[in-house]
Amino acid sequence: MFILNKIKNIIISISTVIRSICLVGLQSLNKRETILYPDKNINLSDRFRGKIVLTKNNDGTERCVACGLCAVVCPVNCIFLQKTENNSGRWYPKVFQINMARCIFCGFCEEACPTLAIQLTKDFELSNYNRSNLLYKKHNLLISNTGKYHNYNFYRKSGLSKINKCNSKCKTKLVDTKNLLP
Ligand code: SF4
Ligand code: SF4
Repeated sequence: MFILNKIKNIIISISTVIRSICLVGLQSLNKRETILYPDKNINLSDRFRGKIVLTKNNDGTERCVACGLCAVVCPVNCIFLQKTENNSGRWYPKVFQINMARCIFCGFCEEACPTLAIQLTKDFELSNYNRSNLLYKKHNLLISNTGKYHNYNFYRKSGLSKINKCNSKCKTKLVDTKNLLP
């Protein structure tokens, strides 16, 4: 009986090893999942959150209205901006900085932004030998196109241009955002 059990265990062990070798052999025939980066491009999902940019409208104007919502919502406090305004009273950021060494790519700033100015792109090649180079200033962040959202223009829907139009000929009453009465 003892010898029979021994023989049975040996057969089970050998068949398990053979099965493992066959599975590994079959796996080697499958398509390779690893990509030879950087020789080959990586196909990232549209939802990938990488390098941050500040985008512009189709007409070339800056989207950011320096409302500061992105800085408020940022959990690691890595956005700093200073507001100023142009001759027509429109706000824009005089200074806009993001400390990319602290950014955790959570995407909260993009979600909070009412003008779709700040966007996270698929670019992940941000490594740098010098930490101070990771402090992105406005000229590093501002790009000349609309990024992911092409036809949205905040100032077409709200803001000063809307108020100026309504002052002259608008029949519907504008919402007074400073009045708490219904
Ligand atoms: S992605 Fe997150 S951590 Fe990075 S700047 Fe935006 S809110 Fe801050
Ligand atoms: S990027 Fe967007 S949320 Fe941040 S200050 Fe500009 S408009 Fe406001």
